[in-house]
Amino acid sequence: MSAARAAAAAPVVVKVGGSEGIDYDAVCADVAGLHAAGRRVVLIHGGSAETNRVADALGHPPRFVTSPSGFTSRFTDRETLEIFEMVYCGKMNKGLVERLQRLDVNAVGLSGLDGRIFEGRHKSRVRSVEDGKTVILRGDHTGTVERVNAGLLSLLLEAGYLPVLTPPGASYEGVAVNVDGDRAAAAVAVALRAEVLVLLSNVPGLLRDFPDEASLVRAIPAADVETYLGVAQGRMKKKVLGAAEAVRGGVGRVVFADARVPEPLVRALRGEGTVIA
Ligand code: ADP
Repeated sequence: MSAARAAAAAPVVVKVGGSEGIDYDAVCADVAGLHAAGRRVVLIHGGSAETNRVADALGHPPRFVTSPSGFTSRFTDRETLEIFEMVYCGKMNKGLVERLQRLDVNAVGLSGLDGRIFEGRHKSRVRSVEDGKTVILRGDHTGTVERVNAGLLSLLLEAGYLPVLTPPGASYEGVAVNVDGDRAAAAVAVALRAEVLVLLSNVPGLLRDFPDEASLVRAIPAADVETYLGVAQGRMKKKVLGAAEAVRGGVGRVVFADARVPEPLVRALRGEGTVIA
């Protein structure tokens, strides 16, 4: 394979979040542009804000837990998992697939459970800090992606399809588990030897002094990324962790960028945002 063909074959992995304000039309337009230019693209998405709305409407409001090390996650009992699947695998995934199909991209929407694209250990107990005390909650359906079915993704990419992926993943026992989308995207980027991983959200990147957007961290040397875990609060911590996992796994570049602006992916690939390399 020539160097140029090898470069074109190394995919671009894009994760678009699920928080308020994200312009999915703009993201899909950019994804379609890359695809038309002959790039292989995998799109991974979230759906947190919509899941919260649907969970409230169904009378099963979301519950978030903060681990002793400061990471926040959704407590996912069975009912929450089912609501989560309705929104992530249903409305969000099919909404993105439809947008891409309208743009003439043959997108295929799959969850991490399908073909065990995201596979990992099921954690049924979670430690949560509540009123300063650590308690153990049981019945959680969460997991961490440890394996990616890269063979299935490569089959789709080689045939010209564009995979649109979403949590949940599969546990080793085949149980559906809520997995973090940013870290799942990092695992996909590593497994496919991606050229770049782009994490699009509703902030311009990692902010040194959140929410002051003027405090954007523009560049982080790959070797230093873990030292920035302390800068990120709440859910941003998972992005920093995902970025660290991706660069450690051989992904050349990770970009955190804004999905509320026109041409979000074009800008991110141009280096607007936080670039970790
Ligand atoms: P998404 O679902 O879009 O992937 P998340 O909600 O998981 O995004 O994470 C992005 C959120 O992280 C931002 O909306 C912001 O509220 C929060 N955040 C916390 N600390 C920071 C920080 N230092 N820089 C940027 N965002 C931060």
